[in-house]
Amino acid sequence: MKAHDGMYIDGAWRPAAGRDTIAVVNPVDEQVIAEVPAGTVEDVDAAVRAARAALPAWAATAPAERAARIAALRDVLVARKDEIAESVTAELGAPLPFSQAVHAGVPILVAGSYAELAASYAFEEKVGNSTVYAEPVGVVGAITPWNYPLHQIVAKVAPALAAGCTVVLKPAEDTPLTAQLFAEAVHEAGVPAGVFNLVTGLGPVAGQALAEHEGVDLVSFTGSTAVGRRIGATAGAAVKRVALELGGKSANVILPSADLAKAVGVGVANVMGNSGQTCSAWTRMLVHTSQYDEAVALAAEAAAKYGDRIGPLVNAKQHARVRGYIEKGVAQGARLVAGGPEAPREQGYYVSPTVFADVTPEMTIAQEEIFGPVVSLIRYEDEDDALRIANGTVYGLAGAVWAGDEAEAVAFARRMDTGQVDINGGRFNPLAPFGGYKQSGVGRELGSHGLAEYLQTKSLQF
Ligand code: NAD
Repeated sequence: MKAHDGMYIDGAWRPAAGRDTIAVVNPVDEQVIAEVPAGTVEDVDAAVRAARAALPAWAATAPAERAARIAALRDVLVARKDEIAESVTAELGAPLPFSQAVHAGVPILVAGSYAELAASYAFEEKVGNSTVYAEPVGVVGAITPWNYPLHQIVAKVAPALAAGCTVVLKPAEDTPLTAQLFAEAVHEAGVPAGVFNLVTGLGPVAGQALAEHEGVDLVSFTGSTAVGRRIGATAGAAVKRVALELGGKSANVILPSADLAKAVGVGVANVMGNSGQTCSAWTRMLVHTSQYDEAVALAAEAAAKYGDRIGPLVNAKQHARVRGYIEKGVAQGARLVAGGPEAPREQGYYVSPTVFADVTPEMTIAQEEIFGPVVSLIRYEDEDDALRIANGTVYGLAGAVWAGDEAEAVAFARRMDTGQVDINGGRFNPLAPFGGYKQSGVGRELGSHGLAEYLQTKSLQF
């Protein structure tokens, strides 16, 4: 795979300050496919300086001009979508059709939405005798994970650019090639030098240097709750803005009036997509006791249909972690009805689509984020019991409710402590705010709510 051996800083690819590199591994065959530079504190500093120098001019551009640059960026992503899909498949291991439809397709939608929002957003409003201006927060330090490599980048960079902010991106070490491709796209789109900068590197080195840099005004982080907590503490100590998109353990609540086969089938598919490496995946399926056995049979059948059609996990560490969780589920008394801890292939970080029955709410597999293709079926006695189980984790990122009657599902969803709920399989909406209640995070991404994260207000009284 093609890789740059430098950092994209101030509008050009520049040599890295140090000599260390990060090997990029294809999770399908465990072969090294490229090396990228491991950024240091010096690289981060150079990138932040470039972003700060570019800020006054970019912040002062008319929203229509920023919209035009984001529209151009969207067009480059469209033109290069096959390359993007191939890059994600090579470093994440996702099957090519999934990479084309989701990993390349969704960022194009999101970039398009911000091209429109940049042009139409009310950056100025009258409140009584005041005029309130929404102004850019400043320099953004964006730190992203590997699970949706391009989506996570675009969900931060597009609104930041729309707001008039400048950005330094530190992408995940497993998926830097897609990030380099994105930097090329930004360049091709004619975004001025210094407005977007890329530093590849290790989290505890380059990521931490970015989060701690005094020239960064807002840290926008997506990743694990453990790292998010540290970044939140660092930002708090510096009185710096922070947005955290963290983990999840979402509930798929199937009420007795629902179309059971559909709810179970869509529920299993929701977890198996991206091999379970989706923070908002509905990994806990809640089924009424009267329908439980039927749901277990349907879920086992749905998982078996996936067979070996799902991709591998991203790396050896995740592979060991997910298999460890499956072993723990068995040890704590859950019943395996599909899949299991054995690696289904000799090569590659594969895990079989796995379904657990007889899971109780307090088991580790029902509480902790597994981040693999594992669904747990939990039984409930009545609606209050279902709600208690659904809300009974430290997370609150997403969820689903199924019922025969939409109003019944909505009434239940309104009682859930979670940021977004899909009603009877509702479709993804790139304009709907995405983010967590409780320990799933702070702040929102996507749509106008996502744009507001990159703005601060100034009011003038007359
Ligand atoms: P991670 O927290 O290990 O890494 C995420 C990013 O943070 C990477 O770029 C990494 O290099 C960087 N990082 C690591 N240590 C750091 C440090 N000390 N200082 C600064 N940066 C550091 O998470 P991961 O393993 O890459 O991703 C999986 C996790 O991300 C899961 O828990 C998942 O739920 C969560 N996630 C959440 C969302 C969401 O929107 N809520 C989306 C995707 C992933």
